[in-house]
Amino acid sequence: MTIEPSDRVETVPPSGIRRFFELAEEMDDIISLGVGEPDFSAPWAAREAAITSLELGKTSYTANRGKRELRELIADDQRERYGLDYDPDEEILVTSGASEAVDLALRAVVDPGDTVAVVQPSYVSYVPGVIFAGGDPLPVPTTQETEFKLTVDALYEAGAEEADVLILCYPNNPTGATMTAAELEPIAEFAREHDLVVLSDEIYSELSYEHDHASIATFPGMRERTVVFNGFSKAYAMTGMRLGYAMGPPEAIDAMNRIHQYTMLSAPTTAQFAAIEALENCEDAVAEMRQQYNRRRRLVLSRFDDMGIECFRAKGAFYAFPECPWEDSGEFAEALLQEQKVALVPGTAFGEGGEGHLRVSYATGLEDLKEAMDRIEAFIS
Ligand code: PMP
Repeated sequence: MTIEPSDRVETVPPSGIRRFFELAEEMDDIISLGVGEPDFSAPWAAREAAITSLELGKTSYTANRGKRELRELIADDQRERYGLDYDPDEEILVTSGASEAVDLALRAVVDPGDTVAVVQPSYVSYVPGVIFAGGDPLPVPTTQETEFKLTVDALYEAGAEEADVLILCYPNNPTGATMTAAELEPIAEFAREHDLVVLSDEIYSELSYEHDHASIATFPGMRERTVVFNGFSKAYAMTGMRLGYAMGPPEAIDAMNRIHQYTMLSAPTTAQFAAIEALENCEDAVAEMRQQYNRRRRLVLSRFDDMGIECFRAKGAFYAFPECPWEDSGEFAEALLQEQKVALVPGTAFGEGGEGHLRVSYATGLEDLKEAMDRIEAFIS
């Protein structure tokens, strides 16, 4: 016999990003602007804390919800940054990456047949996550005209007033778009008016280059209907440590923990020691990485400008989202990879509104980035 995948799994296409990397892995001398992953290592102090915890033999499970010390630091961090008060015992859950938090939240709040509005272009995990949870994804496309910011018009155009849940992500992967507090306010109003649960992926919150990050949970009536995701992968360059967290009202966090306690037990212990150190003592390292990303961002934007390629001014994360000079972004990306050995991701990988664009990750050293931009220029001319 052969084992047949379930219908749910069958309906989810393979990730458009992975396919590209498999191609790129077979070639030499590739410069990859493809991965959404910092090129830095985690700050040394965080790594050292992980090593020390291992030397001390701290290799057991932690509490299901994560080490209390870590939850307290997360609560302090949110209070200082946004004035949001989360109870470390009831309103914070430490997870295996923000990825687990996204999956848990969807499974905890979505019933079969519920509609989940997904702001697109979007991070590749949301739509599959909705399907695995038994919900129906409703794409809410955003466009370059609004700099890929979510607007109330876009929500109505997609019919999101009928949705049960709204999932959004600013600073955004793949576009690099950000939203200010003033721009988020009408979105919060829409969510209240139409009684939506909001899942806000703020994993790039510390990589906002032109204005302070604003959390949608801070608006009146929003904290009780919002679950916020964050984590250590991006700002702290800790992708491989697999540590994230979710914050929200007690009933939502409790529901998520009910899944987490059976499917994960607890997030990686060694990573939790690193994360405690990261929150306590790595602010300078984060600031240094942010500065470097910002330098690269300006380089990438100005190089596209010089090439005559339209590229909206991305203000966050580590992505630029230029217009693709060819009609088919998949063909362009594949030809660029074959001819100039530069890997980037076609916009089609990110759902509606993605076609016609390319995702360029500048989480790559400045020298490689310059070389890659030279190669792109050579390719298009
Ligand atoms: N959300 C977004 C928007 C991301 O870009 C990523 C990582 N690519 C994640 C979540 C998952 O991050 P983690 O490593 O914490 O699982």
